[in-house]
Amino acid sequence: MDIYAVIGNPISHSKSPEIHTQFAKQTKQNLYYKSLLAPLHAFNITIDTFLHEGGKGANITVPFKIQAYTLAHILTERAKLAGAVNTLKFEHKTIIGDNTDGIGLILDIEKNLGISLINKRILLLGAGGAARGVLLPLLQQKISTLTLCNRSYMKALKLVKQFSKYGHIIASEYSKVCGTYDIIINATSANLTKEIPPISNNIFSGVSLVYDMMYGNCPTIFMKYAAQHGAIVVRDGLGMLIEQAAETFFLWRGIRPKTAEILTMLRSKLTQ
Ligand code: NDP
Repeated sequence: MDIYAVIGNPISHSKSPEIHTQFAKQTKQNLYYKSLLAPLHAFNITIDTFLHEGGKGANITVPFKIQAYTLAHILTERAKLAGAVNTLKFEHKTIIGDNTDGIGLILDIEKNLGISLINKRILLLGAGGAARGVLLPLLQQKISTLTLCNRSYMKALKLVKQFSKYGHIIASEYSKVCGTYDIIINATSANLTKEIPPISNNIFSGVSLVYDMMYGNCPTIFMKYAAQHGAIVVRDGLGMLIEQAAETFFLWRGIRPKTAEILTMLRSKLTQ
């Protein structure tokens, strides 16, 4: 039986084993998917051991996405641009690195929520691994503008320079964000410290979609804040998680699982 794993630290919270096991059942693929806790200073050793066990592929999560990027022998274009890898595929002795976070976000917004990104004015908060992974896929959707805002402004500026050849992207400091947006995406980890990025609450009024990449058993504090200040639709990142997993499954197995049922099932388990 082919073996796959999600590797991170911590890892016990990960929903990936459940998602991929459901995908395998649905598509009748004979595989086993487990979670692997890698010691913080032994990511490469964990991968080596997993390869010797016969591992065929792995999802990589916090804090190893950059190390996975360095470890890969071959990188897909989207992984190169993201500078981070969330999917590894082992083909004989070759390690292929990919990043499926971006396509996961696009599919959740366009397919699951039915909101087109074409001509949209988008504000993206954060310039960490998750934000980097979604920049190219967003710019490829014929959007109107992408404003990138980050606490460390220089990071946003650097990314804007790197990605400006792919579309209309500008950097902004939090204190200077104003104007009208159709979609606001939170790719910061501020929720973890129960903070809201330092942004004016006026910008949420009438926004068609406020999307928080974080998810949990109830709306995140960012989602609540946006809704209180006039956002029309607010959505968490559970759908993105499932869609990125489906893309990964496709890369590994050559078959694309359906996601709607799993999204409903996980959502109801989370809220129980
Ligand atoms: P990183 O640690 O790489 O980046 C964190 C980002 O958050 C940085 O831009 C940082 O700014 C910013 N930040 C942290 N605290 C604050 C704050 N208090 N105010 C403003 N900005 C802040 O994390 P990731 O990019 O990997 O993950 C970000 C979020 O996305 C997480 O919540 C994660 O769970 C989620 N995620 C969800 C996925 C999904 O499938 N749903 C997939 C991947 C990630 P600075 O640069 O200034 O430090």
